[in-house]
Amino acid sequence: MTDSKFATAINCIDGRTQTPVSDWIKEKYSVNYVDMITEPGCDKVVCGRDQNILDKIKSKALISINAHKSSLVAVAGHHDCAGNPVSKEEHLEQIKKCVETIKSWNLPIETVGLWVNEKSEIEQV
Ligand SMILES: [Zn+2]
Repeated sequence: MTDSKFATAINCIDGRTQTPVSDWIKEKYSVNYVDMITEPGCDKVVCGRDQNILDKIKSKALISINAHKSSLVAVAGHHDCAGNPVSKEEHLEQIKKCVETIKSWNLPIETVGLWVNEKSEIEQV
């Protein structure tokens, strides 16, 4: 279908986060495209208990993995998140839990947690 390399990101709907997350993954993991799965305050959602929404996110990730041979799934939280207005420390704890949750899905690829700070820079969690 394509020789392009893909990764997958679970990210906030916030328009300030998508370019920094996408650019960081492209550079760090040498991929051409980043498939974006968005939920408001996705770090809160992915470490939460709503199995219905978790199943939807997982099925979206599987489309990216199966169709695009994605090599990585990233989950990101960010500064000044309207969907999840908690402290940075709490975000970082949530992101760590998100990574564990996603690992429990047994996807055949690497999982990484990201924090988008107040300067729109990426910090690996
Ligand atoms: Zn947000």
